[in-house]
Amino acid sequence: MGENNSRESKFSRRSFLKISGAASATLGMTGLGFFGLQAGKSASSYTGRESFQGAAQSFNRKKFIIDKSPHVKVGQTSRIDARTEMIFARIPRLMRQWKKGIEIDDLDPLLKSFYKSHPDQFELDSDLINRVFPEFRKANKEYGEKYLLAQAWSNAMSAVWPEGINQPPEISDFPRGERYGEPSKPYKLKSPGKTSKLIKQMAYQFGSILVGITELNPDWVYEHPLKRRGFDSDKPFKVPDHWKYAIVVGTPMSWDPFYANPTYGTSEDAYSRSRIIAYRMAAFIKQLGYAARPHTPGTDYDLMVVPIAIDAGLGEQGRHSVLITPELGSNFRPAVITTNIPMKPDKPIKFGVEEFCKTCKICAENCPSGAITHGDKQVVRGYKRYQVNISKCHNFWYSNLGNIGCRLCVASCPYSRKSNWLHRTALKVTSNDPTGVSHKVLTAMQKSFYPSPDAGDYYIPSMGGKNASYREPPWWLKTEDFIDMQGG
Ligand code: SF4
Ligand code: SF4
Repeated sequence: MGENNSRESKFSRRSFLKISGAASATLGMTGLGFFGLQAGKSASSYTGRESFQGAAQSFNRKKFIIDKSPHVKVGQTSRIDARTEMIFARIPRLMRQWKKGIEIDDLDPLLKSFYKSHPDQFELDSDLINRVFPEFRKANKEYGEKYLLAQAWSNAMSAVWPEGINQPPEISDFPRGERYGEPSKPYKLKSPGKTSKLIKQMAYQFGSILVGITELNPDWVYEHPLKRRGFDSDKPFKVPDHWKYAIVVGTPMSWDPFYANPTYGTSEDAYSRSRIIAYRMAAFIKQLGYAARPHTPGTDYDLMVVPIAIDAGLGEQGRHSVLITPELGSNFRPAVITTNIPMKPDKPIKFGVEEFCKTCKICAENCPSGAITHGDKQVVRGYKRYQVNISKCHNFWYSNLGNIGCRLCVASCPYSRKSNWLHRTALKVTSNDPTGVSHKVLTAMQKSFYPSPDAGDYYIPSMGGKNASYREPPWWLKTEDFIDMQGG
């Protein structure tokens, strides 16, 4: 009994110290918030492209490593069918069959079976074609030129595109021996640990800001992949043995336009860089004689990236279903390289996101389309996770102007902040607070320092909105300051 008592009192004392430490650190920051925001305006607070040595991957993950899988299995798992579950494949398929007054029963067997079990998605996808697209085209004609510089910048970012993959893995992934006059065989490597170190350094060298390595869980690979990557998408895809490991690389979007979403930011800002890094990584690995295949944004993937990035120790999934990393929050656009080069994998981490998301809900409040749940995780293909209503989200992409997409959940997430001292301190507090006391204080601070327009204001005027953006655009994207539109 005495031992129990002393254990209890030790625990209470420790808990008390943790709670009061977290709370006072948090409250201390409140008074300093203004200066923190000022610091966020300084160029030196940018995290991202200042180093080719990995210095931006600065969070000490060791303390937060977990030894078991962070993915909670509930019952039978299954793999994704990209033909219907990926909106980029489903909508074109629906459009090819579209006619006025079409019903679910009129569709091909695949779409019919999908929409029968997801009738709400049929309503939303039909609304996109019937109402949203025409409204979008009209508004673009009327107000679209305001975003000329943002669009020109986005298109310029995507102007350089690596030659895509159009062959299946057994052909495209292997080094082409004939290029060097003899069959390529893998070089003997000294150790998996050394190879991981080399691979990571090479990824930084190519411009990646964060890098993680994992053994690939086949559950994350599409069962019916996308056609244009060399597959017959109607045949179930057996995950190849040479996809043993996955390397996750990526970059953030530039902070200032990112905060001016949904209109001025562009995913292409980071997509284009991540694509190039992934292709360079694959070329490097192939020259060592091993197989490698890049999976790159926007849609050239054969697998789901977020769970792989979690397995690779880069972060946790947030309520908005996006990866949250300690360094960049959700402002990280990843690419993956599947390979058989033997490496020492990283381990997943837990640094407080799951607990924080339970009470924060800022992304759900800011989401114009209501695609993010205020409730609990769901069971999706046998795993418990947050799931965004992708049709709602996608319909909003065509309900605002500027660059296609939205990214508001990513921009409004408190973890997605420039790397100033305030943000780093807040991260330290939340990651080390087992009580959750700091979470509510930090969420309240976030709301008062980062007030946002009403979710409805982000829509185009004909849909009841004001073409709002989360923040003002940077000076270099204000079309009206550079172009005389009356001049023709
Ligand atoms: S991208 Fe926009 S519409 Fe989609 S879930 Fe995020 S906030 Fe909602
Ligand atoms: S905004 Fe809040 S609830 Fe949403 S993902 Fe970020 S931390 Fe989680």
